[in-house]
Amino acid sequence: MEIVDVTKAFGPADRRVFALGGVTATIRRGEFFTLLGPSGCGKTTLLRLIAGFELPTSGEIRLDGQEIGHLPPFRRPVNTVFQNYALFPHMTVAENIGFGLEMLDKPRAEIASTVARMLALVKMSDLAGRRTDQLSGGQQQRVALARALAPQPKVLLLDEPLSALDLKLRKEMQVELKRIQHETGITFIFVTHDQEEALTMSDRIAVMEKGHILQIGSPTEIYNAPAARFVADFIGDINFIEGEVVSCGDGRAEVRLPSGPLLSAHAGQPVSGRVTLAIRPEKIGLRAAGDGTAQLSGRITNLVYFGSGTNVHVDAGIGADIVARTTTPGVAIGDRVGLDLPFADLSVLAE
Ligand code: ATP
Repeated sequence: MEIVDVTKAFGPADRRVFALGGVTATIRRGEFFTLLGPSGCGKTTLLRLIAGFELPTSGEIRLDGQEIGHLPPFRRPVNTVFQNYALFPHMTVAENIGFGLEMLDKPRAEIASTVARMLALVKMSDLAGRRTDQLSGGQQQRVALARALAPQPKVLLLDEPLSALDLKLRKEMQVELKRIQHETGITFIFVTHDQEEALTMSDRIAVMEKGHILQIGSPTEIYNAPAARFVADFIGDINFIEGEVVSCGDGRAEVRLPSGPLLSAHAGQPVSGRVTLAIRPEKIGLRAAGDGTAQLSGRITNLVYFGSGTNVHVDAGIGADIVARTTTPGVAIGDRVGLDLPFADLSVLAE
């Protein structure tokens, strides 16, 4: 599916609000593609445009080469799973799953066999005859998914489908959704504001802010090589270090910090002047004070234990504390330590 320079404005001409300000993306067939961003960035609007519940102000949406952006929803080979499931409470599980196929006037035998297949896919075969108002949230979620998949759409849209579930069930359904996507081979476009969920589930992620896509990439690309400060900040914890480029070449920038030290960082493109460097806490090595491999040194101001590790806050004289993550702290508040910031893990960000 190609989304080509799509904009969407709401409101009267003198008070127009652009929910999408020119979005372009190619979503590959059969991939698990996630739209990730904070509340109000335009994720739902983009999904509604793909579904056909809204029409774009400009731009095109193409599927298999055909422009579908102006077709009514039922003419698009696209289906949606809503956050609130939108099941029919007075119908059984099987009737809910078969409903869309009945509307399409499919033969009875075909409906029965598709419903049976969908029930098996979402592991609900033994509850086929139960009314959906007698199901748990997780079970309702499975029925909603089966119902949306039954007409075999080319693309399935999922708008924060797991947000109503408690954490444990949510984790379980993340794995289930991924399995079901893999088994059916259908393209999933999934909306979430939860960065961990996006990293866990997606083949690729589009990070959105204020109606724009800032970066599209695999979870590891987005996490390890964020293209913009917003992306770096939104996806997990990160340290930002301001400095001035002294030299740049061969993908390497030498950056002088205002306090004096020189750091080497990898730079995807030529940079100059004032820049921001970024590094994840778990990439920073803790060294003994005075260790020759440490580029920075400072005093520990805080230790924050969070179960699987400890965040070590260090005042290295650069303004904000630098946070390093370790599983073997062996240090105390007030200790002096060295900080190793490996070249490969230190990125120069475009603003
Ligand atoms: P959330 O996670 O809170 O649902 P979102 O990223 O999905 O947020 P959208 O719901 O797409 O964001 O909204 C994007 C922007 O467009 C917001 O500023 C919102 O107020 C505005 N907007 C969305 N729908 C309409 C509408 N029907 N009329 C006017 N403005 C709208």
